[in-house]
Amino acid sequence: MSSADHDPNCIFCKIIAKKIPSRVVYEDEEFFAFHDIHPAAPVHFLIIPKAHLESLAHAGAEHAPMLGRLLALAPRLALEQGCNPYPEGGFRVLANTGREGGQEVQHLHFHVMGGPRPWPRG
Ligand code: AMP
Ligand code: ZN
Repeated sequence: MSSADHDPNCIFCKIIAKKIPSRVVYEDEEFFAFHDIHPAAPVHFLIIPKAHLESLAHAGAEHAPMLGRLLALAPRLALEQGCNPYPEGGFRVLANTGREGGQEVQHLHFHVMGGPRPWPRG
């Protein structure tokens, strides 16, 4: 990962670099997935691209293949992490974007949430 790909002040870039600990769900050259520290569901983890991108609002056509691969990873990891199978089970994928979208961390991330209802939040 070149220095242009990460922001030294970004908490999720620090998690990718393992400068901040996390409960790792999955890692490859392109993506990192880890459990949300404040889970809103029995299963709640985040999938992020390793290359720093602020939000979905910053995605252009050049990011489409990466976004496709990221979304295709979600169902596999959801099942591995204990989400029940579709259609009785399933999961939620969510990307909060911008202030009004409720985004708190400015590194693109997709929440994956699932597991038996009721959920603590949401
Ligand atoms: P968002 O509102 O979509 O930007 O959500 C950011 C999410 O990151 C929240 O659900 C937080 O609980 C989660 N989060 C923040 N810091 C950490 C961390 N160090 N490890 C794991 N999850 C985190
Ligand atoms: Zn970052």
